Amino acid sequence: MKFTTSWDDGYALDMKISKLLNTYGAKGTFYLCPQKQHGKEMLGPDDIATLIKEHELGAHTINHPKLTLITAEKAREEISESKKRIEKLSGKSCDMFCYPYGDSNDEIENIVKEAGYKGARGTAQMLFASDNEYQQNTSLQIAPFPKRKTHSRWWHKLDQYGPFRVKRKLIKTYGIPLRECTTWLSLAKAMFTYAQSTNQPYFHLWGHSHEVEKYDMWEELEAFLRFVTKQKDVEHVVNSSLL
Ligand SMILES: [Zn+2]
Repeated sequence: MKFTTSWDDGYALDMKISKLLNTYGAKGTFYLCPQKQHGKEMLGPDDIATLIKEHELGAHTINHPKLTLITAEKAREEISESKKRIEKLSGKSCDMFCYPYGDSNDEIENIVKEAGYKGARGTAQMLFASDNEYQQNTSLQIAPFPKRKTHSRWWHKLDQYGPFRVKRKLIKTYGIPLRECTTWLSLAKAMFTYAQSTNQPYFHLWGHSHEVEKYDMWEELEAFLRFVTKQKDVEHVVNSSLL
């Protein structure tokens, strides 16, 4: 089975992710956006030069807008300019795009295709295959589970187990026992085992390095990568290798 990871926005902390991936022989696609996010420090030119040596760079627009909420002309500019920027940084063709907030529709997908990308990652989770190269599905995001750790919306307090609630149906479909749903790490391992035992095409882990830091999940991330390394017949690849 192929194992890939992806990391959004281009935070300076992505270098910590890259080191971890290198330790366990894993590969990642880093979707960079020059616009500062959440007031965090972003990757500098030297960091990017180091990243390219081991991993893949993908585009994630210039200003991180919701692409369906701006004009088609503006969307085209965000999509093609960010491709050019990544190609200038890496000296290679930029084949992958990632929709900010996972926001897209048929028109946006077509613009991405016309701009010359070979594929695009979406934010659908709990999946191990994709039937549309411009909506590459993911398997699991690294984020607090089964309970929220912060309440950024007023209703979050009323829905503490939201992260479990939204995955519940597929957890049941995959036959993952509830005892594996007590931590993010136990869910990740159970899903990986399910994917391997049912011969799925891939497992795609993704996230934001600033959230791994914010929610203190570095140990869980490392333990999962260590677990993956110990499994048989795992091929470590970047996102474009799933196409
Ligand atoms: Zn983003």
